[in-house]
Amino acid sequence: MNVSTTSVESLSSDLSLISAHSHISGLGLDDNLQPRANSQGMVGQLKARRAAGIILKMIQQGKIAGRAALIAGPPSTGKTAIAMGLSQSLGDDVPFTSIAGSEIFSLELSKTEALTQAFRKSIGIKIKEETELIEGEVVEIQIDRSVTGGHKQGKLTIKTTDMETIYELGNKMIESLQREKIIAGDIISIDKASGKISKLGRSFTRARDYDAMGPETKFVQCPEGELQVRKEVVHTVSLHEIDVINSRSQGFLALFSGDTGEIRAEVRDQINTKVAEWKEEGKAEICPGVLFIDEVHMLDIECFSYLNRALEDEFSPIVIMATNRGISKIRGTSYKSPHGLPMDLLDRSIIIRTECYSSLDIQQILSIRSKEEEVDLTEDALALLTKIGTETSIRYASNLISVSNQIAIKRRSNTVGIEDIKKSYILFLDSDRSVQFLEDNRLQYID
Ligand code: ATP
Repeated sequence: MNVSTTSVESLSSDLSLISAHSHISGLGLDDNLQPRANSQGMVGQLKARRAAGIILKMIQQGKIAGRAALIAGPPSTGKTAIAMGLSQSLGDDVPFTSIAGSEIFSLELSKTEALTQAFRKSIGIKIKEETELIEGEVVEIQIDRSVTGGHKQGKLTIKTTDMETIYELGNKMIESLQREKIIAGDIISIDKASGKISKLGRSFTRARDYDAMGPETKFVQCPEGELQVRKEVVHTVSLHEIDVINSRSQGFLALFSGDTGEIRAEVRDQINTKVAEWKEEGKAEICPGVLFIDEVHMLDIECFSYLNRALEDEFSPIVIMATNRGISKIRGTSYKSPHGLPMDLLDRSIIIRTECYSSLDIQQILSIRSKEEEVDLTEDALALLTKIGTETSIRYASNLISVSNQIAIKRRSNTVGIEDIKKSYILFLDSDRSVQFLEDNRLQYID
């Protein structure tokens, strides 16, 4: 089998859609991973965000693959928001796949195939390729910290076709690395003939920044003359993308249509073997990402048993689940369990709890949401909206922002006032009032 790869550009759109979580750009943590009261669109929920910060750090250090975390708490307490914040903080290099438990049930794919695809979408494979370096080009060189007196292992990758040059220049470089006390993150230049390295400055000001980046990276000016430095180009693809490309005649086009169908187990086995070989040969690096399963209680017992097994696979991401259920039935059984999850899965999960918001938190979230939707609220209007949010839910109060804005526009006002909020509250019911209405008018409805 010829295992091929391609990188798929995400089909981003120019439309800036306002979605429920579009105001969130991170977990809102400081440099010590402590939550700021109000930052990156995130407000309050400090304990849960602190816990998410620890998970973030562990993911960045590659220490948490094959683990499960459960975010549990009442509805509208920011479970999905925290997962989205985590995804934003991880950046583009770490695959993050988000599904809802109910998505697993479709006519086209079996439950376990849908879950397998979700798992494999969450594993990134960094494939390294070498290309000739053009003179004067800026290249990346990884430095072995043991060479530079540091304690972390990395490697010095300077490649030339001529072994003598490697030894001679390599040794000289290592000597000057030690002499000049060059450490990871420094910008250096290499003298064309002597291989002498001099320090030009630092690319990162704080040690933490490059620690978080994983392998140390250096930027050096390409030496002219004899030394041939080769450049490493890194493509990141997901295991699932490699599966798809190699499983069907139409290859990667299936990635765009989403019509990937079932992928045969043999294809996956072959790909696993190939990827393991690439890893062994230093051609590929495996980057376990995150699989987020919202409304995890919607999965059934077969899916849960699949999850338990898949978490032990050598290619497993971290699985973060979210649920708002208390003690409820595990789907597909007649048993009740905390959060509707089987005990063995619960037992292997670390649990983050979200708590109900104070009215100040709710006010701040609603204020952020109104800015996100470019709606001006008067102080009174925000106060009333906060009261409504406290008594019903953040989601309902959030929905009233755009509705009230329409009412304000109708009366030719650019600002939403208290009257607009009152009108929309009367026009649109929250779930409690809707339930009450049903109970009061039971006879008019079909049971
Ligand atoms: P459910 O259990 O019903 O799925 P949830 O706990 O996942 O709810 P979210 O969907 O995350 O709740 O939150 C509801 C709305 O409030 C979303 O628009 C979300 O972005 C926003 N929100 C929730 N918590 C915060 C927060 N701490 N900071 C900013 N926005 C938040």
